Amino acid sequence: MRTQQAAQVSTDPGPAADLPARLGNLLLGTDSRQRLTLTLLGLVALVSATVVMLLTYAVAIGMADLRQVALLSACVFASIIGFYAMIRSGCNRRFSDPTLAMPQAIMAQTLIACAYALTGPLHGATVIMLALVMVFGMFSLRPAAVRIVSVYTVVVMGAVIYWSTQHQPLHYQPQRELFNFGLTAIVMLAISQLSGQLMDMRTRLKTQKIALEGALAHIKEMAARDELTGLPNRRRMMTLLQEHATRHARGGPRFFVCIIDLDHFKHINDTYGHAAGDAVLRSFAAQAQVVLRTTDIIGRWGGEEFLVLLQETPPGEPMLGVARLRESLSVTPASPGLPDVRVRFSAGFARYEENEPIDQAIERADRALYAAKSAGRNCSIVL
Ligand code: GH3
Ligand code: MG
Ligand code: MG
Repeated sequence: MRTQQAAQVSTDPGPAADLPARLGNLLLGTDSRQRLTLTLLGLVALVSATVVMLLTYAVAIGMADLRQVALLSACVFASIIGFYAMIRSGCNRRFSDPTLAMPQAIMAQTLIACAYALTGPLHGATVIMLALVMVFGMFSLRPAAVRIVSVYTVVVMGAVIYWSTQHQPLHYQPQRELFNFGLTAIVMLAISQLSGQLMDMRTRLKTQKIALEGALAHIKEMAARDELTGLPNRRRMMTLLQEHATRHARGGPRFFVCIIDLDHFKHINDTYGHAAGDAVLRSFAAQAQVVLRTTDIIGRWGGEEFLVLLQETPPGEPMLGVARLRESLSVTPASPGLPDVRVRFSAGFARYEENEPIDQAIERADRALYAAKSAGRNCSIVL
């Protein structure tokens, strides 16, 4: 679920925060998506400002009419403010595409078409702006929307060019205008085509990204699991132990480390074969997961050794789970293929001490295990 919170950027820059951050929050808001939409509008505003500057230059050198340029600039300004107000007030969220990229592109093409008609001898240069808007559109619009804007541009430019040849034949000669119109149509067609290809590329990349993420998750899972028993492996258990130690240092619950070693396991291998030994290890792992508390974590430490991380909370004797496992194994077949064989184990416990390195606790559990072996096996010792 994408929560509201996830879409938020830092809202409170704090009393000592810099002015630009506060100003940014004031102008763009704190919703990251809305900020992105406003950034796109910012780019449109920048391009529009450039066009207005060029028009002003055209006025300055006497190639455009001041009143017409002033009117067009006012339209540009009003449109940008209008879009800004819509986005900042959140009205844009009501639309299927809240970025309002298509209306912005339509607005930009309309204003550029007007600029085309107003710039007299300089009008040829404005055609490039139409292409620039479409390049923006390629990255923010779907191919269907790009096609609509392209067709719109061709139609509007056709109308503007026709009007210009009729009303300002001095600067808009029909033959040259036909060339400009053809050029506009070809550029629009090419951009529509490219936009489709860009979308295909994006879709392929997205599919590859999803597949890669899946593969990565699978690899991570495999890297943390023991292949034979499906239990967390030694690396994963080490990570968990470190995490628990860190959590305890920060006031989290205390825990015990327990190392279990199956008794005379070599004998099972020697008597029934390695595959039967594997089946016993699998059955032991399955049984341990059923019998131990849900808060206890058992992992394969290596060979026929297992490590159990036992939480001291919920309250209760953490060693009881291991005792229960010993009892249940005494009445359960070592594996489905060995109904008359029972598995026994020795266990060494160590209580994690305040701020000690985790290796120290593991080493104590190991010493306790060997003490249990020396004491005759099939028992548990705490150090
Ligand atoms: P102890 O009671 O002293 O622990 O005796 P043990 O026989 O269990 O211990 P030892 O270290 O002599 O033998 C462990 C055996 O476990 C030897 C090894 O071949 C076997 N083993 C280790 N990993 C696997 C495995 O993945 N599958 C099988 N089938 N056997 C394994
Ligand atoms: Mg061993
Ligand atoms: Mg053993």
